[in-house]
Amino acid sequence: MKLRILLIVCLGLFSWQHAIAWVYPEHRRIAILAIQKLPEAQRIVLEHLWAEARTGHENRLTPSLFDLQNPLRPKQLDYASWMGIAGDHSCSPDAMLKTVLYSDWILRVAEITFHLEADLAKAKNASQLINALRDSDIKLQRADIDYATRAGSNNVHFLLSRRTSSERAEEFLANSLRDSVDLNAIAAYAWFHTLALRKATLYAARTTPAEQKAALALAALADEAFAIHFLQDMFSAGHIAGTWGNASLRKGTHDYYNERGLEVITWEGTKRVAKGDAYMRDEDADFAAEAVKLSLQQLIGAAEGNSTKSNTDWLNVKLRPDTLDVCKNTLLPNGKLDFDLVKDVLMKTPVPGLGSGLGELPRFRSELGLFLGVSTSVNVSSIRGGFASGQEVPGSVAGIEADVMIGYGLEGVLNQTGDGLVFFQAGWRQDSPSSTQFSTNDPNYQANTITSIIPGRSAYSVRLRLPFWLVPGDLLLAGPILGFTHPKAFQKIAVEAVNGGVIGWQSRFATPIGRFQFVLGREVGISIYGLGGTADALFVPTSSNTLAIVTYKSIKYDFPFLEYQPVRSFSQSQSSALKLQFSFGVDAPFKTAAITPVAQTDFELKPIWYVSVRLIFNWRYYF
Ligand SMILES: [Zn+2]
Repeated sequence: MKLRILLIVCLGLFSWQHAIAWVYPEHRRIAILAIQKLPEAQRIVLEHLWAEARTGHENRLTPSLFDLQNPLRPKQLDYASWMGIAGDHSCSPDAMLKTVLYSDWILRVAEITFHLEADLAKAKNASQLINALRDSDIKLQRADIDYATRAGSNNVHFLLSRRTSSERAEEFLANSLRDSVDLNAIAAYAWFHTLALRKATLYAARTTPAEQKAALALAALADEAFAIHFLQDMFSAGHIAGTWGNASLRKGTHDYYNERGLEVITWEGTKRVAKGDAYMRDEDADFAAEAVKLSLQQLIGAAEGNSTKSNTDWLNVKLRPDTLDVCKNTLLPNGKLDFDLVKDVLMKTPVPGLGSGLGELPRFRSELGLFLGVSTSVNVSSIRGGFASGQEVPGSVAGIEADVMIGYGLEGVLNQTGDGLVFFQAGWRQDSPSSTQFSTNDPNYQANTITSIIPGRSAYSVRLRLPFWLVPGDLLLAGPILGFTHPKAFQKIAVEAVNGGVIGWQSRFATPIGRFQFVLGREVGISIYGLGGTADALFVPTSSNTLAIVTYKSIKYDFPFLEYQPVRSFSQSQSSALKLQFSFGVDAPFKTAAITPVAQTDFELKPIWYVSVRLIFNWRYYF
């Protein structure tokens, strides 16, 4: 019952995908590059606008548009950082500006991302990059409580797919901006960029009172930064390839193209290979910066009073940044959009992939969502002697196991090192006889079944896996209570659990040969031997120095503590995985009875401790 409640809570909590495109330092880097590309005269206008917007906020905002110092403990934020805070750490330009100006946690976010930027630059291979992301995501989730769950109710960070291969830029733009269209990156860009242009036009108008100018400069810059965030997202490969299907398919496809890259062509015909989130190269930043530069130039033009649109209706705007919430809204509201200027910028962005159907880009799966699966494994255990007292000679036992499983995959919710796998599995196992013999000095009887101190036997087994926050099983207890009374608090601990627990010791550690993970407390296996029609029996030396044949049952508790998985692979249909798991446990006998001699009682069976290694093959079908 509790598991069911937990699953329901999880399904509700994790139906989002944390796919927000470029990471913060990448957003900021593109912005810096775009500002650097501006002609001197235009850059001065933008600097002037920034200086005016800073009025009264000099403590929080840096004097220049960007600050390349990246201090260890930032006290101020530059304009370029707003593009990273927009969308990913705030839901509207208004909320972004309040966060930038008045919150303390955003300085901590800036600090974490400066470290991330340095770590990404230092990373020599994929595993170092993955570990850098893991470290920053764990810290970001602590600094910004909504970090993992803010994005997700819509596809605002993604481009819509094209409907036909012959679709022209104007048609695609019109479709992306039609009334009540699903929020998408172009819609968000057009919406906020138009508002920024209108506010900049009003700022430039001669009739605007001087005391309103600072507020208008601030509002226009906030709206524009928010718009540019989504313009930058349009250059991330995983956001160009198209997003549809279940969470497993959407996340798998997104991750695949971000990592492996995608050949793209812009609407005006420039060809490039694009990579995506956390994989940005110099050429990717340069590619996106061209479009961002044009967007800024349009804003600068409006602020210089060059706008062709200046009727009173167009200038009827608020003095504050916009409040359209891109996290909660799923549709583009009706409103004024500057199609012509937006189209000029759109021409510099990549043409997205075709929608579902003929000609679509290949899709990939990730381990995300509800699944049914089968699991097989082979194992070898080193055991401490036998069940009878005095049997202390170590030996080994091999076994095979087959199971069916049902569960919920939460792999890579924040990044590749997260492991939120929840499952229950049931099956059957067969164990070989123990290698330890009664007469170890006689080589003729080595590894003989009859003389083995533990004969071969089979068991029914169950296994439960669940991430935990602080102590094993805590989500099971907290879920039903917190999940309903304080969903946000539960969300936070669930996300931390998925990412390796409150102290993070259970997150995966990437190496060039694969991923290692401490899993103690995450998983427990129970096998019950002797439930079949024929009782298990073994020879037991009695205290009167005879041998008794004793029937028994036993229950084995298995506690995995370390796992190794080869490097992540992408699969187009079902997910399958190979892993090596190290565990320890104890095998405790019960219901013992002597059958020969009947009613013999002077014997005793003791529990056996063991360490074991299992090679596991999993096949899972995600719904
Ligand atoms: Zn984004």
